[in-house]
Amino acid sequence: MEMERKVLTQRGEITYYLTQKRVKNINLHVKSSGRIEVSAGHGVEAERVDKFVIEKQDFIFRALKKYSEMTKINTEDSHDFNDGEIFTILGQKLVLKVIKDEKESILVWNKELQLHTKMPESLGRKSAIYNIWIDAYVKAVLMDVYDRMFLLMSTKYDIPKPGLRLRSMKTRWGVCNITDCIITLNTKLIAAPIRAIEYVAVHEFSHLLEANHSKKFYAVIYGVMPDYEEREGYLRELRLGD
Ligand SMILES: [Zn+2]
Repeated sequence: MEMERKVLTQRGEITYYLTQKRVKNINLHVKSSGRIEVSAGHGVEAERVDKFVIEKQDFIFRALKKYSEMTKINTEDSHDFNDGEIFTILGQKLVLKVIKDEKESILVWNKELQLHTKMPESLGRKSAIYNIWIDAYVKAVLMDVYDRMFLLMSTKYDIPKPGLRLRSMKTRWGVCNITDCIITLNTKLIAAPIRAIEYVAVHEFSHLLEANHSKKFYAVIYGVMPDYEEREGYLRELRLGD
């Protein structure tokens, strides 16, 4: 069971989550979300753990600072469509430039996302032009990755080709519904580098062979994607569900 505890240090208050289990030492982890998790043996008194956390305050505050400064890639769907706004697409940061033009279009050029429109002042107009473009782009990219990764899986494993569903999700990059044989990919993945999207597809396909995140499951992924851990790393920076 997990216990929420608060301690006061010279540098400020620290809230942490204590789990007691069969471990020898007191272990402390600061997650990239800022959550502090501590595990300690069953016999260890909570007050002793408090003292341990206070002793580690320098390390904790350094880690919290690091994570809060970590570049938070924009995975939100809402934009103001003002010049200079950053759009992250396939791991690349693009700067929005709104251009008055009779021909309405989106053009990605030289780290710029150019939005050409007759009505540069209209948020509704700009958002409509962008949304039509990004929806088609997301669909094309995700379907391509899906097909390529299915081919890759098929070179090694005998799996049926599941249906593909694309939608925006709050907490997960992908879902594999084994019963209905449908894989759902989060459209927010478009912010991630293509290598990370490929990993998510392989991850979901692998659930057709191993339902749980067991050692066997990761061995299946490793079989076709030996560098999967590095690819998975990109996704942690995107921090879904904020
Ligand atoms: Zn999974």
